[in-house]
Amino acid sequence: MSDKMNFQADVSKMLDIVVNSLYSEKQIFLRELISNASDACDKLKYMALTHPDMAKESGEMKIWITPDAEKNTLTVADNGIGMNKEDLINHLGTIAKSGTADFVKNASENGSAVDLIGQFGVGFYSAFMVAEKVEILTKRAGEDKAWSWVSNGVDGFEIKEAEKKTNGTEIKLFLKQDEKNYTDSIYLRQIIRTYSDHINYPIVLCLGKAGEETVNSASALWTRNKAEITPEQYKEFYHHVSKNFDDPWMTLHFKAEGSIEYTGLLYIPSSAPYDLFQPDRKQGLKLYVNRVFISEKVEELLPAYLRFVRGIIDSSDLPLNISREMLQQSPLIAKIRQGTVSRILKELKKRSQDYEDYKKFWDAFGIAFKEGIYEDFANREEIAELSRFVSTNDTEKLTSLDEYISRAQSEQKTIYYITGDDVQTLVNNPQLEAFKEKGLEVLLLTDPIDEFWTQTLGSYKNFAIKHISQADVDLSFKREGKKAEEGDLKKLTDLMSDMFKKEVGKVTTTEKLTRSPVSLTVENGQMSIHLERLMRNHQQQTAFASTRILELNPYHPLIIKLAEAMGDEALKPKVQEVARILLDQAKIAEGEAITDSSYYGEKVSEYILKAF
Ligand code: ADP
Ligand code: MG
Repeated sequence: MSDKMNFQADVSKMLDIVVNSLYSEKQIFLRELISNASDACDKLKYMALTHPDMAKESGEMKIWITPDAEKNTLTVADNGIGMNKEDLINHLGTIAKSGTADFVKNASENGSAVDLIGQFGVGFYSAFMVAEKVEILTKRAGEDKAWSWVSNGVDGFEIKEAEKKTNGTEIKLFLKQDEKNYTDSIYLRQIIRTYSDHINYPIVLCLGKAGEETVNSASALWTRNKAEITPEQYKEFYHHVSKNFDDPWMTLHFKAEGSIEYTGLLYIPSSAPYDLFQPDRKQGLKLYVNRVFISEKVEELLPAYLRFVRGIIDSSDLPLNISREMLQQSPLIAKIRQGTVSRILKELKKRSQDYEDYKKFWDAFGIAFKEGIYEDFANREEIAELSRFVSTNDTEKLTSLDEYISRAQSEQKTIYYITGDDVQTLVNNPQLEAFKEKGLEVLLLTDPIDEFWTQTLGSYKNFAIKHISQADVDLSFKREGKKAEEGDLKKLTDLMSDMFKKEVGKVTTTEKLTRSPVSLTVENGQMSIHLERLMRNHQQQTAFASTRILELNPYHPLIIKLAEAMGDEALKPKVQEVARILLDQAKIAEGEAITDSSYYGEKVSEYILKAF
């Protein structure tokens, strides 16, 4: 009896992309299969800690590679955990990772196969780059039944009960006609050494009459001496442990000694994963105890703001039978985390000396990293020091807080910032005019997270961190030229206050504007307009809406004109019309939506026509 099943839709699509786009890197299929075999051995070894009988029949864990030139097949076998029927269906017929479906759809629509592969690795499916048919024979450790799985990689797969004595998995590739070179022992040996030397278990090349030969060093890479590890080996281990396809941006290999001993081999990828901000992401480091794999994605080993870091931690000071609950509470794990975080921060500091190099890291992970400023109390100064921002000093270049301080004026004791949706809108915000006039630099912050760390940090190296609406310096400046008459101005602001009482709390005049006739701000100490907008988008607002203030520039010809018109009752409807347009303008400058955009459009057109 056999079950014939179709691949989940995403799998067919993914297979198609993988098979047709990775042509030049075909040989990596072997790395993927060996990587899976190694994971399977890791899993069984871990199970055996609590169920010693399960691994009894296995003996030493190994991976066997058997070419058959006559039949044009290549078999990759392991005596690891194996798969039962459900495993085969769930792991080899569907894409399990959450978010994959959307991503595959997107990538196939935009034709960016490289992205797809970079995000997910190519995994098991890469076998179909070289095979026209794949046959799997597998038995899960501790279970009686064995299973066979067969597929041509196009129309789905067939599962049957089968005969297999020992646990583990045999994956037999029926090679395509023009892929005969994968039965060549010299070529195989070279591929395995290039991509899989770091694998923890012996990879045995089985050459029939010519005998068997272990091809790799079969020792955990992180236990080896740094000087003996090549950059390629580090890179391949990164591919194995992260299942990513890119090059690591940072490789950090260290041994901590002292009250607790552990080794870390950590990587920062060169591009951000698609799920960096997905709440259900499960990421973290792999944990080994004395080279025995314990658990994958141990979140406790790193704080969330470093969730993009990949790699392993191996400690001989942890108990082998450490459970999930223990991981959460263990003071040893907390110590490892602390030490690991400081090493990462130290390394980042080194790398931050090179602007272009560090910018790559910042562009990919900066948004997540900044969360550390409020998440990691103990390290927040350091994280702030390592953070980069756009500022009015040079909108094309990132600046650090230290650089900002080095440019500050002699009396200046505050780092100023403004928040908004994008740099372009922020640069043109009328509220910045006075800062420009006074030569005060302002950080232009555009990530939602910026609303929060700025509040938590409060100050940096004796500089207060303040939103420009909370400025504590006199922003008015001496100016020449005509100013609206006080009495008329008062009438104008009264009129506008009355007209807009639903939209703004107050209408005042200000000495801070130069180019703009009007500007919108909030009462000192209140939530910024940008934050309010963020909360509104998350349906969280209403309760604490800030008081908006509409500020008028009494030196602006338009305001002078309007103020003068207040003397003539007949002009009142016109004044009201223009006042409405001005409020809308102020809102647009803040990135706010205007109440009636068709009215605004009509009126503006009308006034433009009058100019001709
Ligand atoms: P990944 O390794 O990223 O999980 P793959 O496509 O390489 O993705 O493999 C999918 C899944 O199939 C694995 O997670 C594992 O559960 C299962 N699998 C693949 N090869 C083996 C094997 N040799 N032994 C046991 N399970 C395997
Ligand atoms: Mg894999």
